[in-house]
Amino acid sequence: MRVIVLRYSEIHLKGANRSYFENMLFSNIKTALSGYEYSLEKSTTRYLIRAFNEDKTNELVDKLKNVFGLHSLSLANEVNSNIDEITQAALSYTKSDGSFKVVTNRADKTFPMRSMDVSAEIGGRILNACSYLTVDVKNPDWNINIDIRENGKTLIYRDVIKCVNGMPVGTGGKGILLLSGGIDSPVAGYMMAKRGMSIRALHFHSYPYTSQLAKDKVLQLAALLKKYSVHMTVDIVSVTKIQTEIHKKCPEEFMITILRRFMMRIAEIIAKEKGIGAIITGESLGQVASQTLESIITTNSVVTLPMFRPLIGFDKDEIIEIAKRIGTFETSILPYEDCCTVFLPKNPVTRPKLKIVEKVESVLDVDELIAEALQSVETVEI
Ligand code: ATP
Ligand code: MG
Repeated sequence: MRVIVLRYSEIHLKGANRSYFENMLFSNIKTALSGYEYSLEKSTTRYLIRAFNEDKTNELVDKLKNVFGLHSLSLANEVNSNIDEITQAALSYTKSDGSFKVVTNRADKTFPMRSMDVSAEIGGRILNACSYLTVDVKNPDWNINIDIRENGKTLIYRDVIKCVNGMPVGTGGKGILLLSGGIDSPVAGYMMAKRGMSIRALHFHSYPYTSQLAKDKVLQLAALLKKYSVHMTVDIVSVTKIQTEIHKKCPEEFMITILRRFMMRIAEIIAKEKGIGAIITGESLGQVASQTLESIITTNSVVTLPMFRPLIGFDKDEIIEIAKRIGTFETSILPYEDCCTVFLPKNPVTRPKLKIVEKVESVLDVDELIAEALQSVETVEI
């Protein structure tokens, strides 16, 4: 019978609370495969998927590859633990050329042959049947893996397909991701989900200065992120009035600094309302004026929740590489207007002083503007 073997990542290092991580992973696998027919079984250090439609194998593999907490998977054959059945399965995994090695693991100590002997026997039988192949135990082109399990069954497989690793989403608390339409913030959300964080997204727009297309693009990015984050909800908030007021009443070089302070305050209010414990942004130190240490100090100072900036030490090239790998890049580079580009100052302050920013901002009715912005929240379940 054809099965998919799933191995999990560092959660095997967990101690007493390991079952908490395993249960979350189990549930996330089920969510990823919803709509498909299969059975999922937990064995000692891995999961086995059985009874699936083999025509859908590639689709299942694509979904499973993106489940955080999974280290790798293999397509395998499960047979009764006897040498003839094992040989037959092993032959079905041979390639048409190259060198190979048989690697045997014997969990079932009642199986009459030792691992080394099984490898030698199966290797010999493969060579007999396929004279065009060679054995190379030091540096083989491919392996045939034989896993003799305790239940009288043996798994035979060749390839090990890498999955995304990380921790099961839901085991790392909840974070609110400030999601723009750019390249960086989707990657930041991916990185935190990778460490097990549940993500809720928050997007600010300045309609009618920013278009419906810009909003749609963000929802598209959120949908792409959902492949990894299991669940995805997006709150969309208008900052048009806030930007207009800043534009009217504050020196133009402070526009972005002050706007970002409003974004953080709004994010924190929504977070606290939803029981979320952290704010996530796609900032990278020094990338633009609003991401210098001084700028970060002035925006950070209006919130008390921890701010997670998983890209802080990444170069743009490195961020782009991840964006391409996770599939958000092509959408991120579609043209759009971020609300920050509306009323964009020619020379934004690069090293704002907190005291000065607070003074400049004091002409605004901060609480009133925030209350008004929060009235505009639109929530989209992806
Ligand atoms: P990105 O590529 O993520 O847009 P960026 O390089 O354009 O980032 P900024 O525009 O300075 O950098 O934004 C820094 C961070 O602030 C973003 O990564 C994002 O987390 C947040 N942010 C910026 N604009 C918005 C927005 N319109 N809605 C929600 N969050 C935003
Ligand atoms: Mg941006």
